[in-house]
Amino acid sequence: MTGAIGLFGGTFDPIHFGHLKTVAHVASELDLPQVLFILNARPPHREAPVASESQRREMLELALQDYPGFEIDDRELHRRGPSYSVWSLRALRSVHGQRSLCLILGADAFAGLRGWFHWEDVLALAHIVVMPRSGWRPQSVDLPIRYAERAEIRRRPAGAVVVCNAPEVPISATSVRARIGAGDGPGGCLPDAVWLYIQREGLYGVDTNSTRGNHAG
Ligand code: ATP
Repeated sequence: MTGAIGLFGGTFDPIHFGHLKTVAHVASELDLPQVLFILNARPPHREAPVASESQRREMLELALQDYPGFEIDDRELHRRGPSYSVWSLRALRSVHGQRSLCLILGADAFAGLRGWFHWEDVLALAHIVVMPRSGWRPQSVDLPIRYAERAEIRRRPAGAVVVCNAPEVPISATSVRARIGAGDGPGGCLPDAVWLYIQREGLYGVDTNSTRGNHAG
């Protein structure tokens, strides 16, 4: 396969339409034939996820089956210690040679880039594609970068920061877990297969006796 590869990391606790719809938009806008969803096994900068590594992997697998070109990358499950993204980027760079790699980040994750382990190496390894989130302005970012045109992604393998026009999808995994725990159902925030899995596994304090379906409230 040729063309730039999209990389999208997350804890996916659980995967939701805020991830899927925005990344689908980016893949189409930037003409990315393949996006790897990199499961962040042991996030270094936040609380431990609620669902186990294998549960989050299974939910990801169920969600991605409806999205051709979206694939799981579970290399962080096979590594010991904290899941530093830069290690995955180094490994992917060594596999893909001079192919263009695009690390897709929500604006909240991009704003925290300076706190990443070896963050200065990220742009040597990949381009960054930022998905705007509510209230975010490119000018407000405190990083020594300049934004580039989209065409830069085709010209070199790494180093450009591009802002894309992904639609605002006001969903977070935190809000999904809260809804489910409060007995409100997922409110259409998740693929049906993921919601069924959550019910089967009894995740996030789900009320397994509730009759409320995915599209309730
Ligand atoms: P949590 O609420 O548990 O922090 P999350 O929904 O933000 O989770 P993560 O798995 O932590 O999801 O995030 C992975 C990536 O997805 C980050 O780059 C984040 O900015 C991005 N992201 C999450 N939700 C959205 C959304 N609704 N729109 C755009 N990007 C999103």
